[in-house]
Amino acid sequence: MKKKPQRSCVSCRTVREKKDLLRVVVTPEGDVVYDPSGKMAGRGAYLCPNEECITQELKKAAKLSKGLKKPLTEEEIKALAQSLLGSIKES
Ligand SMILES: [Zn+2]
Repeated sequence: MKKKPQRSCVSCRTVREKKDLLRVVVTPEGDVVYDPSGKMAGRGAYLCPNEECITQELKKAAKLSKGLKKPLTEEEIKALAQSLLGSIKES
């Protein structure tokens, strides 16, 4: 039996199968994007597909991004939250 890849949510640390988590990627350009394919290059972080983890983590990301070369704007954070929340409502 093939072992299924598992990851933990960066917000609540719950371990789930990779395919059950949402992947957010920090691209080499410093953008933070939702990666529905799970295959984009860059540093990935995983989140539970629930509103709490998404909103909690994006709040944190807004703070953390101030230390990045390219801080996230409020619009970027909102757009990211919308695509993440949109993806969980579709399923
Ligand atoms: Zn979580």
